[in-house]
Amino acid sequence: MLEIVQFPCIPSNSNYGYLVRDHATGTVAAIDSPDPDMIERELDARGWNLDVILNTHHHWDHVDGNPQLKARYGCTVVGPSYERRKIKGIDVELSDGDSWALGESVAQVLHTPGHTLGHIVYYFAEDGLAFVGDTLFAMGCGRLFEGTPAQMWGSLARLRDWPEDTVIYCAHEYTQANARFALSVEPGNQALQARAAEVDALRAEDKPTVPTTIARERATNPFMRPDSAEIQANVDRVGASLDEVFGEVRRRKDRF
Ligand code: ZN
Ligand code: FE
Repeated sequence: MLEIVQFPCIPSNSNYGYLVRDHATGTVAAIDSPDPDMIERELDARGWNLDVILNTHHHWDHVDGNPQLKARYGCTVVGPSYERRKIKGIDVELSDGDSWALGESVAQVLHTPGHTLGHIVYYFAEDGLAFVGDTLFAMGCGRLFEGTPAQMWGSLARLRDWPEDTVIYCAHEYTQANARFALSVEPGNQALQARAAEVDALRAEDKPTVPTTIARERATNPFMRPDSAEIQANVDRVGASLDEVFGEVRRRKDRF
């Protein structure tokens, strides 16, 4: 059993910070280190120690807080082997198929190249939840800074295969803008229309739209839906390969 604490970090960049605590052992992880002062404040408020940082990828808003937290807590820094030289203070390198035991809770590691080439996600299958960094967002996905559309589609397709009730914690609150774009490529999707309205209501009250679930993303996220006839028609890729449809949707989002 895991307890999860979610809090906004770096307001100008819409990051979320996460603390994850294994109930049985009291072991605590931070998912990435977007704002070390905020992370320390959340730990202090609960009287928790920080045992480990689980990094998803090398971008500054995910790793720049590592040194400060490591200096105070002596925590272990875990991250993708593929980006070892870019992860500040890395102690343990994980690759696809590896797992990490947070006390008695076990995270499976999946390599999800696309946003960066070495991005990894942490899937706590028994708890039915995952930390996906900047690979999958609510109704969106990470920009392809390093990978190809085929790589990113391959990564998202693996996440799409998780059980539908899997709870997805992503690293940014980008949902409202993502919904606007999603509606532009699939305006007839009723689940999407309903969710966009829900998201608008939540954001009007400054409430988070994260976490999401695989079921919701399968139903509303255009990057999870390259097989949608409506999307294919709207991006002029009817009958194209899923890689190609995905790639065109991503290109259009970049220009949206
Ligand atoms: Zn990133
Ligand atoms: Fe990020």
